[in-house]
Amino acid sequence: MTNCIFCKLINGSIPTKIVYQDEDLFVFNDINPKADVHLLLIPKKHIESMLELTDADQDLMGKMMITANKLALLHGLNKGYKTQINTGIGGGQEVFHLHIHVFGNR
Ligand code: 5GP
Ligand code: ZN
Repeated sequence: MTNCIFCKLINGSIPTKIVYQDEDLFVFNDINPKADVHLLLIPKKHIESMLELTDADQDLMGKMMITANKLALLHGLNKGYKTQINTGIGGGQEVFHLHIHVFGNR
């Protein structure tokens, strides 16, 4: 998606500090953090929002949740943390590339 800011972070046309990536996922710090730790986990595949998910995305979404937990623990959030997925205009989504917010205070 050429006009998607998160796809530009994935393909490097906009530079960002990469927290984690693998063949499916890309993780970076939110530009406007709302907690000590505020990660954004996104699939490398452009999916606009949860509204677009199909059965074919089952493994990907499972991997996103498990990776969110691993990264939260790596960031010292072993007492717990908050996750948030805003979906669509009705859910307050502002960037239309599916993402999981991970919030935590140390
Ligand atoms: P949403 O409301 O769509 O769930 O949240 C989008 C999030 O993306 C916001 O928390 C916002 O601060 C973050 N964000 C928007 N543009 C950029 C950017 O260019 N770089 C980074 N790192 N975060 C961004
Ligand atoms: Zn995208």
